[in-house]
Amino acid sequence: MVKVKKCSFCGYDIPIGRGVMMIRNDGRILTFCSNKCRKTMVVHKKKARRTRWTAHYGKQ
Ligand SMILES: [Zn+2]
Repeated sequence: MVKVKKCSFCGYDIPIGRGVMMIRNDGRILTFCSNKCRKTMVVHKKKARRTRWTAHYGKQ
């Protein structure tokens, strides 16, 4: 059985076989459902809780 991963940014499930994996300099592994999420977090350094289209938006 394959475990469904969640996107490190938006928090939604990543479909099997999809997604982008990234290893940060500190060794943490980040998985993203799409390049949009990767770019928003890595390039634009946005916070998921402040980004309207994520599952974390508005949560504490
Ligand atoms: Zn995502």
